[in-house]
Amino acid sequence: MKMTVDEKIICPYCHREMTKWACPPESTWGEGVHYICFNDECSYYVRGWAWMMEKYAVHASYRYHFNPITGERGPIPVWDGNALKNAIIED
Ligand SMILES: [Zn+2]
Repeated sequence: MKMTVDEKIICPYCHREMTKWACPPESTWGEGVHYICFNDECSYYVRGWAWMMEKYAVHASYRYHFNPITGERGPIPVWDGNALKNAIIED
């Protein structure tokens, strides 16, 4: 199946377009272009703060992440509102 670069990936939690994100090669997530929902009002991200505090007593959250190479989707941890944003791929 051929995937075009401009294909829109929509976050299932806030229904906003997800942002292209360059996964760092040293990460365990796998190299390449991934998608992350950087919407600060996304329910997934908003709920994550309370969840992480409750479960692990840490000030952190996670954003919804999609790896189009493996088809994997799920949380990617963030420690503040700007975390991971340095690797955003601008169109
Ligand atoms: Zn979202």
